[in-house]
Amino acid sequence: MLKLKARTRHTPVTCFDYYIKIIMTTPLVDLHTHTVASGHAYCTVNELVEKANIIGLEAIAITDHGPRLPNGPHIYHFSNQERFKTIPGNCKVLSGVEEDIAGPNGEVFLPENTLNSLEVVLVGLHPYPNGWANINSKKNVLISLLKAMENPLIKGVTHPISNWFDFSKEDIIEIVENAESTSTAVELNLSKIYGLENKLFEFLDLAGEFNAPLMINSDAHAVHELGDFSNLEKFTDRIIPENVINKDYKTVKSFFEIER
Ligand SMILES: [Zn+2]
Ligand SMILES: [Zn+2]
Repeated sequence: MLKLKARTRHTPVTCFDYYIKIIMTTPLVDLHTHTVASGHAYCTVNELVEKANIIGLEAIAITDHGPRLPNGPHIYHFSNQERFKTIPGNCKVLSGVEEDIAGPNGEVFLPENTLNSLEVVLVGLHPYPNGWANINSKKNVLISLLKAMENPLIKGVTHPISNWFDFSKEDIIEIVENAESTSTAVELNLSKIYGLENKLFEFLDLAGEFNAPLMINSDAHAVHELGDFSNLEKFTDRIIPENVINKDYKTVKSFFEIER
């Protein structure tokens, strides 16, 4: 029994590639986090930074919701993020936002000069009490999202797979195809996987097929969630490591054209 245990522990040759792939796909940068400023998240910037330094992340982006999601922060919250650059510690703190679609032509709520001042600008679809910014059909929401991806200031789409918005396979193909052609990253959001596993498998297969840039994020709304990539194992087989744009800070810096 002891011998058998020793053998299985030391000779898992077939598992080697698998573990290498986990290492290659596990991000060192978490590009999607929220603070108390989002209104329904429970941690401060300092708490996130402290945890990020403890677990060895190279960088995190603070991407609170845009100003028009209920309880979203005022525009000043975004225009004042220059000071993240001087936060001490090994982990870089990147300025950012998770914006929302504001109209039928890919509009978002923050003005261009504010978006331009942020390092990580993401856009996502969320449930709104008053509907979809006067966009009254699902197809038109998709069209607006695709147009937003063409905006060079917008570099990522959060949770294209969610319970809030059920895109069809054809819709997902349009999104990943557009992601590749516009260099916009699509997200594997590890906080939104329950009941969505099969949809996520399909999404990752299509993202791989179309070579879409992929980001893997925690979408932390509480400090213990930051950098928690433990659910990633379920999806590792479907991910092309070369397509993961947040595997390390060097790759993030180049993808988002960050100047530090
Ligand atoms: Zn979101
Ligand atoms: Zn979020």
